[in-house]
Amino acid sequence: MKVQIEDLAMWKGAKLFDPPISTSSLAKPSFDRFMNYSKTIFHEKRYTNNGSLNQLLEARLADFHGSRYCITTNSGFWALVIAIKALKLPGRTEIVIPSLTYRRMADVAAWAGLVPKFCDVDSNTLSPSARDIKESITPNTAIILGVHPIVNTCDTKALNDISRETGIPLLIDSVESVFETTSCGKVGSTAKAEVFSMHASKLLNGGEGGYITTNDLGLANELRMARAFGFERQDSILCENGMNTKLNEIHAAMALANLDELGELVEHNRQVYQLYDARLEGIEGLDLVRFDESYPTSFKNILVKITDEWPLSRENTLSILESEGVLARAYYGNPLHRKDMKYDFVPAELPNTDFCSTRYMLLPCGYKVSLDDVNHFCDFLLFIYKNAKQINAQILNKAPK
Ligand SMILES: *Cc1c(COP(=O)(O)O)cnc(C)c1O
Repeated sequence: MKVQIEDLAMWKGAKLFDPPISTSSLAKPSFDRFMNYSKTIFHEKRYTNNGSLNQLLEARLADFHGSRYCITTNSGFWALVIAIKALKLPGRTEIVIPSLTYRRMADVAAWAGLVPKFCDVDSNTLSPSARDIKESITPNTAIILGVHPIVNTCDTKALNDISRETGIPLLIDSVESVFETTSCGKVGSTAKAEVFSMHASKLLNGGEGGYITTNDLGLANELRMARAFGFERQDSILCENGMNTKLNEIHAAMALANLDELGELVEHNRQVYQLYDARLEGIEGLDLVRFDESYPTSFKNILVKITDEWPLSRENTLSILESEGVLARAYYGNPLHRKDMKYDFVPAELPNTDFCSTRYMLLPCGYKVSLDDVNHFCDFLLFIYKNAKQINAQILNKAPK
């Protein structure tokens, strides 16, 4: 427990959390369950290339999302690339994507051979509105990539309407919304195709991995070919976009074991979220962004808006927390249109994105963060709130002249 500001780890105190706590989910399934699935690999001696664990995982995920087909991949990143390549309109070069999003989205666009046209977001939902998307569409738009924000979902109905009106295909990055439901139904069944990640930091932990859901058989077949070199049969390459993005059986075993236990993880997340909700009520300047509970939700991230009442800058808050072993994060800190990039992109003025990119912060949560940790951490937030004047003065003292 810290009583004076000299107790801060930035100066000479002990760290609040050692090992650190983070914003990553890091779900760990029961070892026996994982081994049970893994036995299949040894029995069948099939390690990759559409093995039976991958087939089981695909069937379970299609069922979970209410989509007809599911195609597993080795990551969310490459799932995005092969899906964009399969869907984009030929002869056009631009992809519409929000700027306030996943850090590596411009790389995805580059690998898919497209130039990003970044669009703004609505400051309330942190996702693009219909107007934001429409303003970014040009005669050169090859595809619209909708991305669900970290808390709640984007307006899938509006996105589908625009896609229908313009004939431009809609792909949704649903990595952050595996468990949610939108105005068009369950995530995974609301667009031409949707993309997910099973990286260890995400809700469904396969260690690494990703998948694509779709109701379109032709597209599903093309994606299956694309993920395995483009082969249709041995020595007959049909699909030009082929690469090697297959998920192996070990990761599928991990994902299946965690899928079995997803309900327990969500229950843990709910308790963490409710405790934060109660505790943050007593801390001025940090407003919890609430999950829409009119649909089932996973409560998987703790996002706060920093208001003018919070007495420290976000950057100073984050560096104090980091030194204490609290790996809190800026919400998509640097929006993509403000990044130094090697890639071409269409320049844009995005005032809401600029504003939102300075105001939000993700707090520790996930499988490894206990309710005691949340209490301990919130006590610390109160401590730095109360001592902010002195802390700011000390930080100024230390700043290089
Ligand atoms: C993590 C993430 C990805 C990429 O997934 P990987 O499996 O890590 O390649 C894509 N989009 C969003 C929104 C993400 O958070």
